[in-house]
Amino acid sequence: MNQVPAPHAPPQRTLMGPGPSDVEDAVLQAMARPTLGHLDPLFLELMDEVAAMLRQVMGTENRLTLPMSGTGSAGMETVFANLLQPGDAALVGVNGVFGTRMAEVARRCGAEVVEVKKDWGQAFTPDDFVRAAAGRSFRVLALVHAETSTGVWQDVSGMREAADGCAALLALDTVTSVGGVEVALDAWGVDAAYSGTQKCLSCPPGLAPVTFSARAEKVMQQRTQPVQSWYLDLSLIARYWGGERAYHHTAPINMLYGLHEALRLTLLEGLPARWLRHARNGAALCTGLQALGLELPVAPELRLPQLTVVRIPEGVDDARVRAFLLNEFGLEIGGGLGPMAGNCWRIGLMGAASRRAKVELCLQALQAALADQGHPAA
Ligand SMILES: *Cc1c(COP(=O)(O)O)cnc(C)c1O
Repeated sequence: MNQVPAPHAPPQRTLMGPGPSDVEDAVLQAMARPTLGHLDPLFLELMDEVAAMLRQVMGTENRLTLPMSGTGSAGMETVFANLLQPGDAALVGVNGVFGTRMAEVARRCGAEVVEVKKDWGQAFTPDDFVRAAAGRSFRVLALVHAETSTGVWQDVSGMREAADGCAALLALDTVTSVGGVEVALDAWGVDAAYSGTQKCLSCPPGLAPVTFSARAEKVMQQRTQPVQSWYLDLSLIARYWGGERAYHHTAPINMLYGLHEALRLTLLEGLPARWLRHARNGAALCTGLQALGLELPVAPELRLPQLTVVRIPEGVDDARVRAFLLNEFGLEIGGGLGPMAGNCWRIGLMGAASRRAKVELCLQALQAALADQGHPAA
């Protein structure tokens, strides 16, 4: 190549898809601060503060709480790779993309996976798992708290008892729920959970908070085979995040500055206030979409305030609408996945994007996009 590209200069978009979400300036500025060494005492202090703030936003006092280097999927791999070994059995709820991914990850860990299936757009009851377990024992019972592919909010109550019924650890995907709706892992009896930074925490993608209960730690200690992934082996990484500060891999220093700031902003707002903000803006968006004549396929009591699925009206071109929103309004929304591809949109109101002004912008932009295609309801 004889010509060097110009510096990359991304425009300011409004990110209202399934993630990444809009990032606050303070978080971007934090990430631009001078890089410290990964064993610098000042960086070690920041790590302790990050872990402490993560415990608060995840509703847990688990000692083993830290952000993995990688996106939400790395958190998913961490949970299954550390808790499962070949020959174990896992009971996994599959009602969307991320339950499907959990089942695939668990299989790749050598586990026998029993999938508990529900239609996309539906939620599980504890009884679904009890029936699927059929009296057998499992190492892990896993499900997704906020299914970003369908916009379904999974109730976790009763799941601890379902897991106890099959002697299983309870694992929960909280990638899209942390910072947007209540997450109370200890109160719910969750043993292992993972999250991501780029959904309701409004930090760029790149870290995956994970937390393991004392009971989950014991299962890790009793493994007869080493964790297949050296990079994701939590017992090694815990020695860096815990007292010893033993080098494992170089922490993504500036990403951690960003997460530190995003967690600070979350806690300064206050968790209940933040959940209420998400609830109000989510409700306002639903009302506005219905006023435009658009249909919301998820039952009202199952709707996530931070992710709304909208049916695309007959005769409206999915890709053309999304291109119109991006080009005319600088607004990104998400397309559908799996059985919802091409027939649904996914609109995210996550973290910094969950603002009344952004709800109004989205409704106005969608109305214009529909009018552009001569859709009568607009
Ligand atoms: C986004 C998401 C993931 C995966 O996270 P990545 O950051 O894309 O790797 C997992 N589970 C849920 C529920 C998600 O929304």
